Amino acid sequence: MRTVPHFIKGARVDAPGHSKVFNPATGEVAATVPVPDGDFVNEVVDGARNAAREWSLSSLSRRTNILFTLRQLLVEHTEELAAIISAEHGKTMADARGEIARGLENVEYACGLIEHLKGGFSSQVADGVDVHSTREPVGVVVAVTPFNFPIMVPLWMCANAVASGNVVILKPSERDPSVSVRLAELFQEAGLPDGVVNVLQGDATTVRALIEHPGVDAVSFVGSTPVARAVHESASKHHKRVQALGGAKNHMVVLADADLDIAADAAINAGYGSAGERCMAISVVVAVGDVAAPLIEKIVERLDKLKVGPGDDPSSDFGPLITKEHRDRVASYVSSAPDDGIEVVRDGTTLELGSGFYVGPSLLDGVRPGTKAYDDEIFGPVLGLARVATFNDAIDLVNANPYGNGVAIFTRDGNAARLFSRDVHVGMIGVNVPIPVPISAYSFGGWKDSLFGDAHIYGPEGFNFYTRAKVVTTRWPQPSESQIDLGFPRTR
Ligand code: NAD
Repeated sequence: MRTVPHFIKGARVDAPGHSKVFNPATGEVAATVPVPDGDFVNEVVDGARNAAREWSLSSLSRRTNILFTLRQLLVEHTEELAAIISAEHGKTMADARGEIARGLENVEYACGLIEHLKGGFSSQVADGVDVHSTREPVGVVVAVTPFNFPIMVPLWMCANAVASGNVVILKPSERDPSVSVRLAELFQEAGLPDGVVNVLQGDATTVRALIEHPGVDAVSFVGSTPVARAVHESASKHHKRVQALGGAKNHMVVLADADLDIAADAAINAGYGSAGERCMAISVVVAVGDVAAPLIEKIVERLDKLKVGPGDDPSSDFGPLITKEHRDRVASYVSSAPDDGIEVVRDGTTLELGSGFYVGPSLLDGVRPGTKAYDDEIFGPVLGLARVATFNDAIDLVNANPYGNGVAIFTRDGNAARLFSRDVHVGMIGVNVPIPVPISAYSFGGWKDSLFGDAHIYGPEGFNFYTRAKVVTTRWPQPSESQIDLGFPRTR
């Protein structure tokens, strides 16, 4: 049985396996992954601290060169990386390639680090006094990532953290940990010194030990809302800089004037793509006015043609779920829906493909607050349809939801789209775009229970998060200016 190694100080480090890594397409255990003890965690943080100073002093041109090379390596290794992701996560190869491409954007953004790390300078703020500001690395950054984007989310964090001069300890999801090790090796091949990107495998105990360690300066977390909340609280208590991105319940509002074919395409793509295991997946279609009946008809027409199968079969539209437990949990929302007065328009839970963790696409009509299928993040191929009478009811529904990650509106009315974008309490909004993941020059982040902390991730806010501001006030007095003045320093 293969055991996924750690990657510490530039080398794979083997350790006894603990958690199981499945091949979700077959249900077989494909590997095991270690969970380190406290001594090993301490050793890794100590090593990271030792590497931090030298890397913080590395020249900006050297960092830029490394990131350019990494970009090229990621392009060249796309097929290999996608195959590793697909085998452990279950997503289709096309989807895995897509996540690599979106992760790559962050490397490309980080290549502009000379611009992003540029400080400010004010000349002659008082007689003979100048002021300049710099942004300096925070030091040792812990990056904790979820199973659903095993390379994109690590790249959201590692690219900007390394570009800013930090050392990273990446703690990947124990469900699909292998691709992180390859990513760290590619960083090394690109010229990154040993010990600047480390991969420490493990589980919740490992994360807790890292957060509590005095040698860790900052924590970037992406995962489910309960864990994000706990990580934010614990890291704050231990005086760490922390950003913790959580789960989601993304609505797609369809107005009466929308092109219903385009809206139905979007609902299918964003609702069932990657088996619904995306934090920006659409999980609730909000049909305004009389749109519900014709929209359901168009969604069903498309849904019935979807093909579920292994990720490495190019004809599969989506693959299995991550574990059997998750599959059963997702199926339970469909089977219990009628108890909440929800109509099951399509039931995908009966699908069986060998012993893989498959579930087919389901469509539920009549989800609403107070029903389990509406209130919980299902994180599977289950699309709910909510019916509301008016545009304002749709905004009220979105705003009453505790999550605020993404939302979309489908309409031909520019003014309605503008008012919607202004009034919804959500971090990322799509106008006729169902999965509005911002390009890397804009930061990514939800509101409310979808993000704990001030900083959104990647882009400009990412560079801010991974750096601290320093302001230097300078004077070169001449001997003739010698004087005693106990007053508070003045600029005028
Ligand atoms: P998860 O919260 O179970 O795990 C995320 C990470 O936290 C893993 O590395 C895991 O080992 C660690 N962890 C688990 N329990 C912990 C605990 N009690 N204390 C400390 N660490 C712990 O999430 P997941 O199931 O891997 O990922 C899916 C979730 O992530 C979904 O809710 C999804 O919406 C969310 N997600 C959010 C975003 C976003 O940008 N907002 C992006 C991707 C995924």
